[in-house]
Amino acid sequence: MKRSEKGSVTIEATIVISLVLMLLFGCLGTLLTIFVDTQMEWAVQSASDEMNIIGIPFSDRTDLLRDLMWIKINKQVKNRSINNFVEIRELSYKKVNGHEINMWEVSYDYKFISFAENEKIQVPFKTGNENDGLKFESSTVYITTYGEKYHMEQCFHLRKSKFPIDLDEALKKGYEPCKNCHKNIESR
Ligand SMILES: [Zn+2]
Repeated sequence: MKRSEKGSVTIEATIVISLVLMLLFGCLGTLLTIFVDTQMEWAVQSASDEMNIIGIPFSDRTDLLRDLMWIKINKQVKNRSINNFVEIRELSYKKVNGHEINMWEVSYDYKFISFAENEKIQVPFKTGNENDGLKFESSTVYITTYGEKYHMEQCFHLRKSKFPIDLDEALKKGYEPCKNCHKNIESR
């Protein structure tokens, strides 16, 4: 075999190997994207289902509802070992058969290899009041001795002092979500 032929064989082999590798990574990326997408949809759906039993009128406490939703989605996401950005935006609400049906837009980002995408899901859930037999549900957040923010359990701001408080109570007392542990919550 001549020298030039040997060279062209090497080049061809390199091209073939590159193409195979590209195809392989492409497939892997697509699979991962589908996997995360499905997991996120489950997380949002589970959170939305839980929100269905919250018995407070929408118009009264949008702040509480949104923060609860955010906490619930993030718990679900953590349970599924996915690290994503979840952002919740309030969309609209309407009354159906005396129930207030709320539509929320939930956006999330994910990044795998070279894939970066932003997905949006609309989440309907209904609220009512105690007369409908709905029970009120809240969530525990944490405050510090002197701070004016409330935190999620793992936040580094809680290394010096950490007192559990009901989210509803924290909001009523004027505490605001910490920017570190609630970085993707829409600011008021
Ligand atoms: Zn915090």
